[in-house]
Amino acid sequence: MSFNNLQLIAPILKALSHEGYTTPTPIQEKSIPVILQKKDLLACAQTGTGKTASFALPLLQLLYGQKQEPSHNPKVLVLVPTRELALQVSESFTAYGRYLPLKQVVIFGGVSQHNQVRALQRSVDVLIATPGRLLDLINQGYPLVEAISYLVLDEADRMLDMGFIHDVKRILARLPQQRQTIFFSATMPPEVQKLSDALLKQPVKIEITPPATTVDKIQQSVYHTEKPNKPALLLHVLQNAGAESTLVFARTKYGADKIAKSLNRSGISAAAIHGNKSQGARQTALGNFKTGKISVLVATDIAARGIDIDGMGYVINYELPNIPETYVHRIGRTGRAGASGIAVSFCDAEEQPYLKDIQKLINKTIPVVKGHPFEPASPQRTESAPSQPAADEKRKQHWKPKKTGHFHNRYKKPGQKTPAMRGDDR
Ligand code: AMP
Repeated sequence: MSFNNLQLIAPILKALSHEGYTTPTPIQEKSIPVILQKKDLLACAQTGTGKTASFALPLLQLLYGQKQEPSHNPKVLVLVPTRELALQVSESFTAYGRYLPLKQVVIFGGVSQHNQVRALQRSVDVLIATPGRLLDLINQGYPLVEAISYLVLDEADRMLDMGFIHDVKRILARLPQQRQTIFFSATMPPEVQKLSDALLKQPVKIEITPPATTVDKIQQSVYHTEKPNKPALLLHVLQNAGAESTLVFARTKYGADKIAKSLNRSGISAAAIHGNKSQGARQTALGNFKTGKISVLVATDIAARGIDIDGMGYVINYELPNIPETYVHRIGRTGRAGASGIAVSFCDAEEQPYLKDIQKLINKTIPVVKGHPFEPASPQRTESAPSQPAADEKRKQHWKPKKTGHFHNRYKKPGQKTPAMRGDDR
């Protein structure tokens, strides 16, 4: 299969060749004909599958076909959950539409609306937006959605996870009924299913990456440990594996900052991205990570969602997510474009139930790394027989900090810091 078989027009084929794409990905192969036929689409696909092009290419083509119809206001609306994803989708439209006379504007919160509004005063074909800022502007009276004839809901599951459902519904109520709707979601929990049922008319359904299949390609492992030992365990894993291009997931913004600071103090260049960072700081961190200036990016789920980084080496779940689907989203960040990736998770006693839920969802038991220097004090917590390979046993004997550090944790008084923690708090 080549892009030439997909009935795409010459300027788009030229842009694809400019991008260096030769073969459509499975989601592109299936979605492009459906969208070109103006049918509603329900697609279950994650980032990394080429999903952006799978809707951007046919929509650019449909828009180009209607260019004669004069309209100042946007005809395509792409709703996305995060600013990062908004920027990425916008970059994709720019790249794929480089030989077409179509204009696009991207709007998101967290920055002044001035420039965005100015851009909207010119003629616009494609509007890419996060729900909050779009609703704000609609409520200020900007006629942004009256002419929409194509709606894309990208990463719908995340949109709901992030609590955007009310904003999304308010926006949807303003859209013309007569339109084509394209719905993308990595997972299909019941609320997402409900939203898609309400939105789509006789949709064609495409499922490209059921979570288990994606997850199967990724080499996963779990380190059981105790919470206070996680900073030292992270250092251990990064030093053993090579810290290049690692995405570390933290549950909280504060936690993400703390981890990044601790890594920097230990000589591993790291930056944190999360919702409290300015847009500029997030872009700088992302840029530095992409160019290899920093080795580790520590992110919260919301900040990391939709970030497209090619060639990510590792994903480390410093804390396990309490929503099992989030695990699938997170580890999907490694092993992009069909390459097999590596995902490492840390699991403390409190996180055992999360691990159980995750394993149930992905329908497999994640292999446990045994014999590492930061195993929990009580072996029964690991849910695995403590069989130590000889080599690991030997390594443990050579591991000095163990004696003064984590092994003493079980004896420490509440609030008393272990050497590992002191190192972290310095
Ligand atoms: P997405 O799933 O849309 O985030 O895309 C993931 C990555 O794959 C992006 O870096 C795209 O530029 C790239 N990509 C998308 N389609 C293709 C293709 N047909 N051939 C090669 N790379 C692609």
